[in-house]
Amino acid sequence: MDGRGMCNQHFIPSPLKIVRAQKQYMTDNMGVQYLDCVSNVVHVGHCHPQVVAAGKNQMATLVTAQGFINDSLTKYVKELTSHLPDTLNVVYLVNSGSEANDLALRLARSHTSHKDVVVFDEAYHGNLGNLIDISPKMFKRMPQGKKDFVHVIPCPDTYRGPHRDDSPGAAAEKYVMEAERVVMQAIQNNRKISCLFTECVVVNCGVIVPPRNYFSLLYNLIREVGGVCVADEVQTALGRTGECFWAFEHYGVVPDIVTTGKPLGNGYPMAAVITTREISESLGEYYSTFGGNPVACAVGMAVLDVIENEKLVQSAKAVGKTLLENLQLLKTKHECVGDVRGMGLCLALDIVQDKASRKPARELAQTIVHRVKEDHHTLLQVQGPGHNIITITPPMCFTQLNARSLTTALDEALTACCLRNQHSDLMSHPLGLERNQAVLSLEELERFDEEEVTGPEPKRPRTSYDDVD
Ligand code: PMP
Repeated sequence: MDGRGMCNQHFIPSPLKIVRAQKQYMTDNMGVQYLDCVSNVVHVGHCHPQVVAAGKNQMATLVTAQGFINDSLTKYVKELTSHLPDTLNVVYLVNSGSEANDLALRLARSHTSHKDVVVFDEAYHGNLGNLIDISPKMFKRMPQGKKDFVHVIPCPDTYRGPHRDDSPGAAAEKYVMEAERVVMQAIQNNRKISCLFTECVVVNCGVIVPPRNYFSLLYNLIREVGGVCVADEVQTALGRTGECFWAFEHYGVVPDIVTTGKPLGNGYPMAAVITTREISESLGEYYSTFGGNPVACAVGMAVLDVIENEKLVQSAKAVGKTLLENLQLLKTKHECVGDVRGMGLCLALDIVQDKASRKPARELAQTIVHRVKEDHHTLLQVQGPGHNIITITPPMCFTQLNARSLTTALDEALTACCLRNQHSDLMSHPLGLERNQAVLSLEELERFDEEEVTGPEPKRPRTSYDDVD
């Protein structure tokens, strides 16, 4: 420990200190309120009263570790599986997306007695050693590189990938043929495939939406060589992609193992692996001290109730559709918007140097996000392999009104940054704008505390949003 705070920060060089939040709005230590288009974890809205009450009540009634019969566990597992195909009826409750994916890998390997894993290029599946090994986003940039048991197939990106100008059906077939080449090469080398491990709407590769017939073809290929199919729904579960509860449903496939995490507890750390009885029987014993604790189950149950009561899946579809249409208009208007894509409330703008080259415009994307934050008090983030994909993954209570104000904010920022190309001031900032490399010293972190104590300078107006109570 060298006295520095290691932080994964948004909005370097002017990070935010958030002190409270409600619904889809967050307030910083200066009293400024922001429209939150980032917090997919807070699925049903910040501090949803029903979720808070469920956690509080359970915390005051009973908190145990595994080993006791627990009504809230039974109820929650029953409710969660009611949203899944009948064959997926065994649930393991764990504490993070990484833990869920690690267990999924163990299940796939013990069921097949094979070791090898097929993943998308630039995928990310978690922070445990086993998962870094199967996450090209991580291992490609580390000295140890790719392990022999990992087989990387192209992500079916129909905007920037090699098969872009075909019809969706033809592109799907070509991407599956590429996957087949990789898998067959592995088999020839006497490797044995335990599983395909992918997101179905591929958020971590830049919100890639594969063509509709892609996964049925790919799942067939993997099953033919003795592997099982794992759907990583850590980002996309519980209706995020609109209309369907799970992203895999859009593709008409049924995975053998599903993992999820982020949205389950509305910010309370909980995650799950759901699989078939047959696959679970190969695992043997499994223990998790905190997995499925009564508070997690009560909170998780409240989240599922709110999704249903407030019709959030239907809302994500409707609001997402409006937003996507609005973003399409921005694409027509602005040369630097190469592509807009996504489903439900999982959307992205691909910021490019020009429409013809489709080359990622990394600094420009960062500058647009910065402008939207500063001028419109609206929070977005940049992701993807080229660090140029502006992603929109707000709490699911995001409204049509929010969609309209976000579009206006983006339009104005794009006009300022894209047409006039006014981003050189930020590009030259000594800290840079790289989110993942952000390291703040304790001194810098303490500066935010001081600002709070001495009170805000009246330099930024308080923004008010119409639908905050
Ligand atoms: N899978 C995917 C697709 C993810 O996006 C993440 C986190 N960003 C994880 C797994 C890991 O989840 P966690 O950070 O909760 O361990």
